[in-house]
Amino acid sequence: MDESTSRGEPKNRAVKNSAVVRSPSRLGSTLIAVTATAVTLVTGYQLTNQITDSLRVSAATASRPVPPAVDMAPPVDPIEELQLQVESGDTLDSLFRDTSLSTLDLAEIMQLDVARKYLRVLRPGDVLIVRHDGGQILQLDRELDIRTKLEVQRDGDGFQASVIEMPLERRTVMAAGQIRSSLFEAAQESRISEKLIMNVAQIFAYDIDFVRDIGAGDEFAVVYEELWRDGVKLGEGDVLAAEFMNRGARFTGIRYQDADGRSSYYTHDGQPMRKAFVRAPLSFTRISSGFNPARRHPILNTIRAHQGVDYPAPKGTPVKASGDGRVIFRGWKGGYGNTIILQHGGNVTTLYGHLSKFGGRGYGTRVQQGDVIGYVGATGLATAPHLHYEYRKNGVHLDPRTVILPNAKPLRGQTLTAFRATAEPLLQRLEGRTSMLAANRPNAANRAQ
Ligand SMILES: [Zn+2]
Repeated sequence: MDESTSRGEPKNRAVKNSAVVRSPSRLGSTLIAVTATAVTLVTGYQLTNQITDSLRVSAATASRPVPPAVDMAPPVDPIEELQLQVESGDTLDSLFRDTSLSTLDLAEIMQLDVARKYLRVLRPGDVLIVRHDGGQILQLDRELDIRTKLEVQRDGDGFQASVIEMPLERRTVMAAGQIRSSLFEAAQESRISEKLIMNVAQIFAYDIDFVRDIGAGDEFAVVYEELWRDGVKLGEGDVLAAEFMNRGARFTGIRYQDADGRSSYYTHDGQPMRKAFVRAPLSFTRISSGFNPARRHPILNTIRAHQGVDYPAPKGTPVKASGDGRVIFRGWKGGYGNTIILQHGGNVTTLYGHLSKFGGRGYGTRVQQGDVIGYVGATGLATAPHLHYEYRKNGVHLDPRTVILPNAKPLRGQTLTAFRATAEPLLQRLEGRTSMLAANRPNAANRAQ
C-alpha cells in the first residue's frame, strides 16, 4: 500500500538528526547512527573525547568517495536516523504514522515495562530519536534528563529497553567579578548564573555576612565545572574552588571529597569552611534593594543597650537557625515580640526577635543549621519589619558577625597531602583572577576620572 497518499500531507517535523543536534560535518546518516550507538556504550565521561576522536577518524575514512561500480549503482543504505519533535496533540502512534514508521514495532515496544513507563507521556518539545531501516525500528531514544536516556533497541525478533547514563564532558572554567551594586548584578556581568553565585555564597556563609557586609569593591573568583555533550553546554556542575574579597579580607574555599565520598570546602591549608554557625540567619536573596541596611529606623536606636544585629527584611522572609541546637524559648518576650531562643553547644545561645510567626519547631525541639524557625516581622518594639539577632556565649553578648567560631576538625596527614595536590592547580587558576577582573572592566579608566 502507498503510505504517503493514504496519510495525506506528511508533517514536516521529522528532522534528519544531524541537522539539529550534530555537527554538519557528520551528515551521512549511517555514520551518525554509528556515532550515536558507540557513544552510548561509553559510561565514563573521561572516555568521551577519545571515542569521539576515533569516530571522527573512521568517519573521515568512510566518507571517501566510493569507487564507481561497473555494472550497477552502489546500493543506497536505507538506514536512516530521524529526530521526531513532539507537538501539542501528538501521540506516539500519530508520530509513527506520519513518518511511515512501523506501528507493529511500536506496539511491540510498548509491551516492555521500561519503554511504556518512559514513553507513555509525551510533552510538546520532547524529542525522540529513531533509527530505522525502511520503517522497521532499529533503535529509539528519548532523553530523560541531561544525564540519562531511554534506549530501545532491536534484539533479534523483539526489542529490549533500558535507561542508560549518557557520557558528560566536564570542562573546568573560571569566572571573576567585582561588585558595584549587588552580588547578583556582578554575577550577571560575569555571565554566571544566580544558582552558581548562590553556591559560592553558601561556601562563605560561615565567614561573611552576605546580608549586611557585602559592598561595592568586593571581588570574587570561581573555578567551576560546566557540563557539555556533543558541543552543547547542558549546565553547570560543582564549584571546585572560589575566592571572595570582602572589605579587604580574602577568603578561599576549595572543594575536596573525603574518604567517605562526602564533599566539602576547605581553606588553602585544609581547615573546614563549615563552622558551627553561619554569620547571617537569613538568606540574602530575599533582601530587596529597597531595604538599606545602613538606614536604621529611629525606634530601633531608642532600644536601650541594643546588643544584637538588625536585619531589615520584608515581612515573611524565612529566618534560619544559625547553628545546630535546641529550642529553649518560643513565645512573646516583651519588646522583642515573637521570639525564639536556641541553645547550642559551647554554652552559646542565639535569639531571634520581632518574628511575624514561628516555623514548625516547637519548644524543646532539636534544630539543625539552616532549618527555618520563623519569619521576619515587626512584633514587639519595632515599627518596620526586621530580624533582631543576638549571639551570647556564657550569657555575654558577642557580635555574631565577628565572633571567632569554633572550627570542625582540619584535614591532617595523608588526607592533607592529598588535599594539597587537589588544591594546588585550583589555587593557581584563582590566581588568574587579577587579569580576568581587569578584562571585565573596560570602563575602569573612565570611572576613575
Ligand atoms: Zn535589634
